[in-house]
Amino acid sequence: MNNTEKSKVYYSFEDFAVEEMGMKPLRRVTRDKQKLASQREKFLGTCPYCKEQLHYSYGTNILSCNNPECKGKKVTLKDSDGKDVVTYKPYYRILLGENSSTIGSTIFEED
Ligand SMILES: [Zn+2]
Repeated sequence: MNNTEKSKVYYSFEDFAVEEMGMKPLRRVTRDKQKLASQREKFLGTCPYCKEQLHYSYGTNILSCNNPECKGKKVTLKDSDGKDVVTYKPYYRILLGENSSTIGSTIFEED
């Protein structure tokens, strides 16, 4: 093993297997742009308040509504005088499970 090989960083066993052993990647982002777009669309889903497509923060498991016009969920709170105060919570969704984040990272990976 020479120095250049030593400095190579693998982020998964799969990367290593593909690179070093010539194996086929297990997960592959489709080359079909339309198919990829529909996979992304399904993955993201829409905001229940404004019906806009949600935004995925790459590398996280958070989907959020980035529509500046969307106020999100209406919440009524009581202030110190007992008066109702209407406020809005921006909509976001947390993906549960490691798999969802993996899918997100896979389909949103730019090549
Ligand atoms: Zn929204």
